Amino acid sequence: MIRFAQVTKRYPGGHTALDRLDCDIARGEMVVVSGHSGAGKSTLLRLLAVLERPTEGKVLVGGEDVSALKRAALPYWRRSIGLVMQDQRLLFDRSAFDNVMLPLSISSHPPREAANRVRAALERVGLSGREKSMPVELSGGEQQRLTIARAIVNRPQILLADEPTAHLDDAYARDIAELFRSFNEAGVTVLLTTHDDALFARYAPRKLVLAQGRLQ
Ligand code: ADP
Repeated sequence: MIRFAQVTKRYPGGHTALDRLDCDIARGEMVVVSGHSGAGKSTLLRLLAVLERPTEGKVLVGGEDVSALKRAALPYWRRSIGLVMQDQRLLFDRSAFDNVMLPLSISSHPPREAANRVRAALERVGLSGREKSMPVELSGGEQQRLTIARAIVNRPQILLADEPTAHLDDAYARDIAELFRSFNEAGVTVLLTTHDDALFARYAPRKLVLAQGRLQ
């Protein structure tokens, strides 16, 4: 379903973040990408979300080269995948409900259906009672759940998460790991990065280890 074909990413300044990466991920897989800081983990996810484009090679999804998508097509592509990325912060001046509504506000759902989807997403991550809460009123773990609710509100087939358990203590991190596993069990293809190998070892049948932009 997802194929990285000889993908190289060099950032301006010449740093090679990924080096001729070849990798296939099947529909319905849950894959954990691990490796040291700077190994290229975020870059791999960002190329799939087309937040960056490869310097060389292709990123194919269902046979289509998403790395060649026109700029105008990118919002549609990003809406079709769920993204939990470091630079996509919650809006702290809006309620939990409104944060999750955000990705739907640019699509064409009738208001009532959109509201139902938001409630379903909040319920899915265990935040049903917190619709009106502002993000500051939520714990770190709950804020991360809210970020995940926002990522799944469009019911994506692919879910990408960059270090989703970073900065959480063990119990919260386990909850979040459990949540990703439950999405995967429901058929969603899940790709996530982590430093915490032990945490995901129980859930992820497949691990990719990156070092200096290459698979180990
Ligand atoms: P990881 O997620 O494993 O920590 P990254 O994919 O973030 O690794 O980064 C891989 C390498 O690419 C690092 O050396 C990093 O400094 C570099 N890099 C990442 N993003 C940029 C950027 N926007 N501009 C220049 N270099 C970058």
